[in-house]
Amino acid sequence: MKSLKDQLQQKKEQGLYRQRKVIEGAQAAELIIDGKKVINFCSNNYLGLANHSEINAAFKKGIDRYGTGSGAAHLINGHSAAHHALEEELAEFTGYPRCLLFSTGYMANLGVAQGLMGRGDVVLEDRLNHASLLDAGLLSGARFSRFAHADVSDAEKKLEKYAAKEKMLLTDGVFSMDGDIAPLPALAKSCQQHDAYLMVDDAHGFGVLGEQGRGCIEYLGLGQSEVPILMATLGKACGTAGAFVAADEDIIETLIQNARSYIYTTASPPALAEATRASIKLVQSENWRREHLAELIKQFRQSVAQMGYELMDSITPIQPIVIGDSHQAMQLSQQLLKLGVHVGAIRPPTVEPGTARLRITFNAEHSVAQLNQLLDALEKIKK
Ligand SMILES: *Cc1c(COP(=O)(O)O)cnc(C)c1O
Repeated sequence: MKSLKDQLQQKKEQGLYRQRKVIEGAQAAELIIDGKKVINFCSNNYLGLANHSEINAAFKKGIDRYGTGSGAAHLINGHSAAHHALEEELAEFTGYPRCLLFSTGYMANLGVAQGLMGRGDVVLEDRLNHASLLDAGLLSGARFSRFAHADVSDAEKKLEKYAAKEKMLLTDGVFSMDGDIAPLPALAKSCQQHDAYLMVDDAHGFGVLGEQGRGCIEYLGLGQSEVPILMATLGKACGTAGAFVAADEDIIETLIQNARSYIYTTASPPALAEATRASIKLVQSENWRREHLAELIKQFRQSVAQMGYELMDSITPIQPIVIGDSHQAMQLSQQLLKLGVHVGAIRPPTVEPGTARLRITFNAEHSVAQLNQLLDALEKIKK
């Protein structure tokens, strides 16, 4: 027990101790934290759908029809008509033959890597991939290797090195802590040449990128032949919870037979699937949400560059400012909170050592006035 205390103390000294803030009420552009009203620049609720009246109503109606609990895993008797309809609608929306729902994105990633790869196979990952993708690769039992961030030639070298094996290359579509987009067209080509599966985790692109919100595949003009396995989460831009994998019939059927994080868990509530069905309709039809986001991002980048902050190469709602030192990033985040804007300080091990950052994220409900408050606060802490 003593050693846990020591470890916790050490985290505090290194500026790496994490504490949860208790949020009152629903997700919105403004939040009440510790009784104080602040503008929220750290959620992944990019389209502002986490508390939308139509989605809330669909959730409630779903409860009236299906009750609260699903009762069992999908393969026992927990797979409801609501789950099934959502899978079919997601397949239609993404343009893939089939989709499979998972309870969380973390579990979807574990399921894909473990369900399709194993001993004797090779899993290649971008070194800045989300922790759930890295864990998925490590737990799959396959040989695991990382390539330099967004570096197609390094990825290609590794594809060549393991020529004889069954291979999968996994990458974030939009990198969650940097906001940049993976070089998917080139990675797809390399994977095709080396007979490797390409799996893209589009947790931060789905709903946000592309005219219709189909994510990085739409934005880059790709489809199933280039990206045979697409995963996206429903708890970010879509504002609900859960995740799905889109792929061909054989891949999806294999996951249903093999993926332990699919098989050995209770299906999510059917009413949640009804809420997500309502959300997907809004994602497709309300393009103004993406247009408004793009406008906020453009104005933010122009103004912040003028203040002398260094920005990352990102066109997405993820706009980090790298600080470096963890203590300093924490202090700046606390100063911003005092000025009424809530921006998360992201520290190792979520990001690489020495790259602690303020991770600013926008959502479609932010007004230009709120953006200006953020800009004023950033100007003040710069001094
Ligand atoms: C959030 C996230 C996940 C995990 O999804 P959950 O549904 O929250 O479990 C997976 N991959 C990426 C890139 C993410 O940002």
